[in-house]
Amino acid sequence: MRVTIHNVSKRFGDTPVLREVSLAIEEHELFFLLGPSGCGKTTLLRMVAGFYEPEQGEVRFGDRVMNRVPPHRRNTGMVFQNYALWPHMTVWDNVAYGLEVRRLSREERNRRIEEALRIVRMEDYRDRKPNQLSGGQQQRVALARALVVQPDVLLLDEPLSNLDAQLRLEMREEIRRIHDQTRITTIYVTHDQEEALSLADRIAVMRAGRIEQVGDPRSLYRRPANRFVADFIGECNWLEGEVAVAGGAGCRVRVAGGELEAPATSGLDPGARVWVGFRPEAVVLDATDGGNVLRATVERATYLGRVEQYALRLADGPRIKALAFNPEQGRQPGEVVPVRIPAASLILLPKTNGDPGA
Ligand code: ATP
Repeated sequence: MRVTIHNVSKRFGDTPVLREVSLAIEEHELFFLLGPSGCGKTTLLRMVAGFYEPEQGEVRFGDRVMNRVPPHRRNTGMVFQNYALWPHMTVWDNVAYGLEVRRLSREERNRRIEEALRIVRMEDYRDRKPNQLSGGQQQRVALARALVVQPDVLLLDEPLSNLDAQLRLEMREEIRRIHDQTRITTIYVTHDQEEALSLADRIAVMRAGRIEQVGDPRSLYRRPANRFVADFIGECNWLEGEVAVAGGAGCRVRVAGGELEAPATSGLDPGARVWVGFRPEAVVLDATDGGNVLRATVERATYLGRVEQYALRLADGPRIKALAFNPEQGRQPGEVVPVRIPAASLILLPKTNGDPGA
């Protein structure tokens, strides 16, 4: 089922929580709403579920306008952070509960419950109560309860945030597998950028009730539309720069301590003031060949086994972070190292007045 959100706004009292949000979630997509706490993701999800009505705009499932359709008529399945299972009921009865309002034959009902439990791999636990299950298993039951209705749209609200780190990783794989198997259009809310990057077909990054950018994980990470998206989705170094040469296949940008070659960016003329961004893992230490080399002094080195983190200071002042993977030999504080920042890894953004988040 395709879900379209068109120009939707919502306030709680005087506070605008969603501001003219438009999104199209394609059929079969695993779509993420990602953003910091309070940005309106849960409100948007609940609006798709039917718990809130938009003050303005439309929510459509396929061609059908859903604004006034109550939640139980929308054929959505929802999974919450806290599982919301009935403690006194068995796994089987908890899943059956999802079907309570539907008129189904006993055989059909049992067939569907068995299938839902099979999809989440909980067939062997059908007679247990929630307190005899681990957090991950409880969340599987909650998923089965959402799947048993054969929803047109599956809505997941921070489904993994109550699990410990290891289980969260396992359940990520499970959610991907279940989605691959069922192909149900899914909207998934999280503030965990790694969860979104690792699972999503596409992500909408939200801030203060607005959509900042929509894209697949790789393009959001590599070509963020602004500093907010760049910083929210991963760590990023920022240097102030000025475009020296523009046009053709690339451009050159003057930064403290040197000049960098950067990919061509439309709309930036010579003299334009820009933010030059690059991820810590893009920095090549001890670069000898090629261009885009700046000199940096090691201020701090932190060895973490598979990776070593460096705090570096560039010749003319700014601090940057760099990562070396599988490091054989460390660098000492005070050492001066040439660092290369490959042109293809540079993110060039026009410098707008003041707000580093703009
Ligand atoms: P979180 O990750 O913390 O759940 P979120 O991005 O999902 O955040 P929402 O739950 O959508 O954010 O809330 C957005 C804003 O609306 C917040 O400032 C919140 O305090 C406020 N809000 C949410 N629900 C209500 C409500 N029922 N009444 C009044 N204000 C609300």
